[in-house]
Amino acid sequence: MIEERADIGLIGLGTMGRNLVLNMADHGFHVAVYNRTTSVTDEFIAANPATPGGLTACRTPGEFVAALRPPRIAVLLVPAGKPVDAITQQLIDAGLARDDLVVDAGNSLWTDTIRREREYADRLRFFGSGVSGGSEGARFGPSLMAGGDAGSWQRLRPIWEAIAAKVDPRTGRPIEGAAPGKPVKGGEPCAAWIGPNGSGHYVKMVHNGIEYADMQLIGEAYWLLRTLLNLEPPEIGDVFAEWNKGVLDSYLVEISADVLRQKDPARRGRYLVDSILDAAGQKGTGKWTSVNALDTGVAAPTIAEAVFARIISALKDERLAAAKLLKGPAPLTRRALGPREKIIEAIRQALYCSKVCAYAQGFQLMREAQKEYGWTLDFATIARIWRGGCIIRARFLQRIAAAYAEKPDLANLLLDRTFRRQMKEAQDAWRRVVSVAALAGVPCPAFMSALAYYDSYRSARLPANLLQAQRDYFGSHTYERIDQPRGAFFHLDWSNPGRPQLRAE
Ligand code: NDP
Repeated sequence: MIEERADIGLIGLGTMGRNLVLNMADHGFHVAVYNRTTSVTDEFIAANPATPGGLTACRTPGEFVAALRPPRIAVLLVPAGKPVDAITQQLIDAGLARDDLVVDAGNSLWTDTIRREREYADRLRFFGSGVSGGSEGARFGPSLMAGGDAGSWQRLRPIWEAIAAKVDPRTGRPIEGAAPGKPVKGGEPCAAWIGPNGSGHYVKMVHNGIEYADMQLIGEAYWLLRTLLNLEPPEIGDVFAEWNKGVLDSYLVEISADVLRQKDPARRGRYLVDSILDAAGQKGTGKWTSVNALDTGVAAPTIAEAVFARIISALKDERLAAAKLLKGPAPLTRRALGPREKIIEAIRQALYCSKVCAYAQGFQLMREAQKEYGWTLDFATIARIWRGGCIIRARFLQRIAAAYAEKPDLANLLLDRTFRRQMKEAQDAWRRVVSVAALAGVPCPAFMSALAYYDSYRSARLPANLLQAQRDYFGSHTYERIDQPRGAFFHLDWSNPGRPQLRAE
């Protein structure tokens, strides 16, 4: 007989789900669990016989609903798409009521969350929440981006804030040291209500888009050090560990240092990174972000470039064939490269500048989305909850949070006074790295795209005047003039030029 005593329930005991359950139980919440494959539930309960909050194993959706104290909260951690609708329907059939809350914590497409909130409105409260931090984050403190109605957030909030990663508000650094049964106490939780309906999932998607760019940029820094300077993986690991003490301090730089120092357990005397096939996989959130950038007309080239870089990497066989046929430049001499320490420092600065551009593009996307969906996003809060728990956590998010707190309507992160100064100081090194890479034939598409973004954005004039003329020439698409007010469109009869004619738009 199942007792109605669980504070919260979770469906989907996969990598993320089982860790989030243990995290909630560590914080004293009693959690009901249900998994499609019952043996997984049994093994999970057997492996965790005593948790502070306690667990209730449920073998059917009916048992799951019966185990929850009303009004109920059910968290889903299953693959995005059909499984979310299928399970929600099973819960409705099993007796979930109108006041009960279903929290989809998977990586769902934000438009699905908007649709689901509407579709299920007369049967339950559907809520979306992005979760970031991988399995380790889920276990000891993720970053949680909640989106849905404000009343539901108030019910979820105590649990979400308890289990989230915590940061020291003064330094912005994550508070480490959580262990099974010993959660971190105090600090600012990396959990927040982002806004209505799909906003939480949207912000989580942009987080992942930035993550794609961040990872690609670190990969390019590694590759430049490897190919230009012939550094061995552990030497690059040491360089990264050093970088991690300054403005580049971040989870991704930290784990990259660890990865590069890892020996290959299967091949004596080799480093694991050298044995791993250079063909990247992807699950789609970087693509969603890039597609959304194109749909909404926001320039996010560094994020898109990172997706394309993964696509080209995956063409391993074609690249092997092309490598024999397509010639590159002669290798650069040591002399042309300059002193080793200088180029290492230049790559560090190039990485930082490119990273600022990638984050700026992510925030530009969110800025546009809020207009489209009628959200009011608080960018300082978003930067704050990304300081801990999530994959893109980084020291400089403290500065991003401060920039938006000072000026919530900042047109672009690049315009913040601190970032402006930093870019000014580091840009020569950044330009040098990109030009050396081009001369040496070493691909660094994200570094290059970020620099082009910076230069385009800071250019008062661009060659789009010629482009507009071309469009008018072949398609009568009209153009605006620099000596006329914006919004007045002209057309020239290019085969018989007289005065340009004003055209109504
Ligand atoms: P896993 O593949 O480890 O686990 C998936 C879980 O979903 C399993 O419990 C599985 O049950 C269940 N499931 C799958 N299909 C169905 C279905 N049709 N009906 C019912 N249950 C189903 O996934 P993760 O834990 O890695 O990911 C879960 C969600 O979290 C995804 O949306 C993912 O994108 C997101 N996420 C993942 C992160 C990560 O680092 N892994 C990070 C952040 C978010 P069964 O045992 O029966 O197969």
